[in-house]
Amino acid sequence: MNDPASALPPARPCPICGKAVETAAKHKPFCSPRCATLDLGKWLKGDYAIPAVEPPDDFDPEAEDGEGEGRGEGRGER
Ligand SMILES: [Zn+2]
Repeated sequence: MNDPASALPPARPCPICGKAVETAAKHKPFCSPRCATLDLGKWLKGDYAIPAVEPPDDFDPEAEDGEGEGRGEGRGER
């Protein structure tokens, strides 16, 4: 019952293909270099796919700031 192999954590499924990954696998947490490359590609693709968040055309930072101040004063007077 003192088998060193049984002391190792259970194999986890490869996040790419779902295959069980051997605890001694070189490309953990992936089952193979191919899956490691696929994961890297996914990250790069996702990075480029993120749409740029742009403010609307009528967005004016200064106007918003003034509006905030005005609201505060209005409440104080009331
Ligand atoms: Zn895999």
